[in-house]
Amino acid sequence: MSTAAGREIRRAVVTGGAGFVGSHLADRLRDGGAAVVCVDNFLTGCADNVAHLAADPGFELVVADVAEPFDVAGPVDAVFHLASPASPHDYARHPLETLKAGAHGTLHALELAGRKGARFLLASTSEVYGDPKVHPQVESYWGNVNPIGPRSQYDEAKRFAEALTATHREHFGFDTVIVRLFNTYGPRMRPADGRAVPTFITQALAGRPITVAGDGQQTRSLCYVDDTVAGILAAARSAEAGPINIGNPEELTIRKLADRVRELCRSTAPMEFVPRPGDDPDLRRPDIGRAVEVLGWSPVVDLDKGLAATIDWFAARVAASAPDRTSPAADQAPAAGPTLIEP
Ligand code: NAD
Ligand code: UDP
Repeated sequence: MSTAAGREIRRAVVTGGAGFVGSHLADRLRDGGAAVVCVDNFLTGCADNVAHLAADPGFELVVADVAEPFDVAGPVDAVFHLASPASPHDYARHPLETLKAGAHGTLHALELAGRKGARFLLASTSEVYGDPKVHPQVESYWGNVNPIGPRSQYDEAKRFAEALTATHREHFGFDTVIVRLFNTYGPRMRPADGRAVPTFITQALAGRPITVAGDGQQTRSLCYVDDTVAGILAAARSAEAGPINIGNPEELTIRKLADRVRELCRSTAPMEFVPRPGDDPDLRRPDIGRAVEVLGWSPVVDLDKGLAATIDWFAARVAASAPDRTSPAADQAPAAGPTLIEP
């Protein structure tokens, strides 16, 4: 696997590599022949996500907090910095860890890239646009973020991380690229991470009420994880500095998402309208013109196909955690709904 600048990615560091997106990125890097060092402290990820790579000699797992100085022995061609809580539920539970992952963690990951002469990729977010006043969101838009609101730990940490990355490039000649990821979904999301897709799927499969926030008219644009990872890799292989939006421009209301999940799960679960969280953005849709132009990247997985693959994965976990109805002991077990195991 080589970068447009001609550098081959023979060995990559993925911070947050035991998380949802990071573990898929590690898989694709291994598929392309690159060795992978995953650095993770399991704050919101888990060893299960990379268990299939455990016996792979091209894969190493380093359990470390990137908010503290850390090092990786040996040569490194690319550092992918993904370590950070990412769901609103997670960053509300871990506010200081989120600020530190974006600030100290980004600095330490940049310093590692500097020591190794590696290309550095920052996984930033559409949250830098906040509750956007420009729609769809284009990279030149500076955003509308509440610096002291309930999402501020994440939004401002990522904005600071972008500033830190740009500064290392402009002032110190680092080889960096910033990608702004939009809502991504797929297998390996935690059932209880609080994000809409895993929450709705878990509820629909269990026949529990589907919790739509507000009137559900707020929109999101959902990108299947394989597409997001392809965009991340295209950016890493390019010589671009970014920022580059990586997302799927197909926008839908949250109410519509709940309907699609319910239909695809063949569920009769009712809708329950619950209060909207503070500062929940009304609209979210990427302008991906830059990614198309400079990376030749655009998403290829449509929503129904991606949701179906995700639902299959969640359903298999439900089946694996349900009692074995063929055994006598199971016959006496209480008829509880399917349980999903948190890492
Ligand atoms: P995730 O929570 O599944 O993964 C994050 C990983 O980082 C976890 O494995 C966690 O344990 C690890 N981590 C957190 N803090 C750490 C620390 N201090 N040291 C070491 N490891 C740490 O989240 P995700 O959805 O996979 O998101 C990955 C990255 O992509 C994040 O940086 C997120 O901001 C970005 N992103 C994701 C989305 C999305 O929709 N999934 C959208 C925009 C941006
Ligand atoms: N949402 C919802 N019900 C839930 C979880 C989320 O209606 O159980 C809404 C949430 O309020 C937001 C949208 O779905 O408007 C997307 O939320 P998510 O946490 O997935 O992503 P983000 O808000 O970070 O874009």
